[in-house]
Amino acid sequence: MPLERPVRLMSYGRRGGYSSGWQVAGVTAGFLSGVQRLGAAPSSGLARLLFPPICVGCRSIVAEPGTLCPACWPRLRFLEAPWCAVLGTPFAHEMGEGAVSPAAMADPPPFARARSAVAFGGVARDIVHNLKYRDRTDLAPWMAKWMARAGAELLADADLVVPVPLHRRRFFARRFNQSAELARHMSAQRGLVFAPEIVERVKRTRQQVGLERRAREDNMRGAFAVPKPMRERVKGSKVLVVDDVYTTGATVKAVASVLARAGAARVDVLTFARALRDFLPEEETPIYEGNDREEP
Ligand SMILES: [Zn+2]
Repeated sequence: MPLERPVRLMSYGRRGGYSSGWQVAGVTAGFLSGVQRLGAAPSSGLARLLFPPICVGCRSIVAEPGTLCPACWPRLRFLEAPWCAVLGTPFAHEMGEGAVSPAAMADPPPFARARSAVAFGGVARDIVHNLKYRDRTDLAPWMAKWMARAGAELLADADLVVPVPLHRRRFFARRFNQSAELARHMSAQRGLVFAPEIVERVKRTRQQVGLERRAREDNMRGAFAVPKPMRERVKGSKVLVVDDVYTTGATVKAVASVLARAGAARVDVLTFARALRDFLPEEETPIYEGNDREEP
């Protein structure tokens, strides 16, 4: 599946300015949308006149829905092979089919394979925050598409797609589980079975922000369970666990462990973003884990 890239000549950066071949005029998004409402919109349709597509990373106007503006595009790093066959962390060089990183060998995870669409930081962080805290639910389908691309092999094997659950109290407070949104869209797009009821969060864990890896693992111990009535469905199934961010992996490892104990034939993990040591964004990025954080 090809990536949706911003369309040349039709994308306008938030910062305006006339730069490279990506922008045709130094107009701001606000001015541009005003122009579009006056009928100068390029790509037809009343809906597009009223709701011009906005950049996935910020709010500037772009030509096509689901694309990034020229300012955001270079601030997002898509992950692709060659990568560790287990952890999905990119290799600098081609290592041969099925090569496994030293990290995966030293500490084999309870899942078979993990993949992520983008490196966490910069625009990826903005996207994750916008989905979770700023009601940008329009982002979920695009994020899901990028995830499906990175996790194509995993999707091909999945019997059940299971999002990392929120604790019931937290879900009621927020009414929104971003991991479930991502899993739901991806399942619908690919005709897979979305099964949020398979794993339950039974312990309200404290926030992972600022915790070291070992502390995160302790924090997650006993956090998840497969409810008894669900065990039959898990037994012998290949399960794909979905979360928004993979930091140390403590959360998805805890989920994978309970699924394995419940008899899953295989557990894979797919997240939108992945914290990587060699990809540090220009701004300071707090390291946090999936569903265990609140707005700083
Ligand atoms: Zn943008």
